[in-house]
Amino acid sequence: MTHSEILFEQAQKYIPGGVNSPVRAFRGVGGTPLFFNHAEGAYLYDEDGRRYIDYIGSWGPMILGHSDKRIKDALHAQIELGVGYGAPTAIETEMAKKVCELVPSIDLVRMVNSGTEATMSAIRLARGYTGRDKVVKFEGCYHGHVDSLLVKAGSGALTLGVPNSPGIPASLAELTITLTYNDIDSVRETFARLGDQVAAIIVEPVAGNMNCIPPVPGFLEGLREVCDQYGTVLIFDEVMTGFRVSLGGAQGHYGITPDLTALGKVIGGGLPVGAFGGKREIMEHISPLGPVYQAGTLSGNPLAMTAGLTTLNAICEPGFHDRLAARTAAVRDGLKAVADKAGIPMAVQGVGGMFGFFFSSESQITRFDQVMACDIERFKAFFQGMLKEGVYLAPSAFEAGFTCGALSEDDIAHTLEAASKVMATLK
Ligand code: PMP
Repeated sequence: MTHSEILFEQAQKYIPGGVNSPVRAFRGVGGTPLFFNHAEGAYLYDEDGRRYIDYIGSWGPMILGHSDKRIKDALHAQIELGVGYGAPTAIETEMAKKVCELVPSIDLVRMVNSGTEATMSAIRLARGYTGRDKVVKFEGCYHGHVDSLLVKAGSGALTLGVPNSPGIPASLAELTITLTYNDIDSVRETFARLGDQVAAIIVEPVAGNMNCIPPVPGFLEGLREVCDQYGTVLIFDEVMTGFRVSLGGAQGHYGITPDLTALGKVIGGGLPVGAFGGKREIMEHISPLGPVYQAGTLSGNPLAMTAGLTTLNAICEPGFHDRLAARTAAVRDGLKAVADKAGIPMAVQGVGGMFGFFFSSESQITRFDQVMACDIERFKAFFQGMLKEGVYLAPSAFEAGFTCGALSEDDIAHTLEAASKVMATLK
């Protein structure tokens, strides 16, 4: 038995499924999840001493790569000063100012501890602000395990076949209207009937929880128009895309201004941080300025703020995102070239530092039903083959891939050589 297999057996005795977040259990691909004990740059090292090129990056936060010296030094210094006081600190204002500068649609921002908290709070705020109850989301988008949003959800919910989780009261789920991503006509039709009852549209501006699906031209623009017309709050869930597809997130990349934004992942530099923010007029409804309640014992704690702010400062270095996008494109296009050569039908797509590949003969994937029609068995075989070659991809056909600043050209070359070997075995 490998060390990972032994550790997984022990973990299952005390932790449901042996993991603290379901996709980690490898149920989407089979086999035993790897247990890691250290990480450096673009590499993860498992308990059996094997090295892997990491395309998950702790599911997004590690945009600089692992164990970045700037973050380690800053964290060590903060630890000496105390890990948290539950009272205001100067670094919280520094962090908020940075977020407002990088994401101009945000006038005021509140820190929380996860992406789930960010979307949950944004939804509550939109409902409190508009006095309406209904929420529109899109099938295959995942916004964290928020009751109102765990309806036809993507990510692990999709991987494990439970897009509608038991435990959510039907009366609450009924308030969530689920439409088709990239289909603006269905949004317009729904709003013609129900628009004045809808508090918010929440959307991943690049969908990353049903593999990686960029918005088609006109989709985000159309959502903005519909929200303006019906007085509905437009929420961009940029937990995944924020600071990753560009410094200003997807809203910066596509030039669309939401009313509220949910942030997570990169904003915490690997520590548990989320945030939500937006238009002053709406944000002023949050407690203690307004009546919509929201709070957190550890929110804005200085250790988490230190990791996050150090990360945001580092990615502001000139050229960071251009390099990241170029490396990501090299991975994506390289995979496509290797697949073509092997005669394996594959579509690739992505934006900035996130990418997706689909075992499909369609040239472009824009809709959820196309994702579901991809060859999942072939994905599983490819994933397992790549793992053996020392390349760690997301263990699900429904997750986007992430790159980091530490990924080198040699790493990409190794990845593509591995892909070439594995594709030859796929037929
Ligand atoms: N929104 C999106 C778009 C996400 O991708 C995720 C997590 N993958 C979340 C929200 C939830 O974030 P967390 O896991 O930090 O609660």
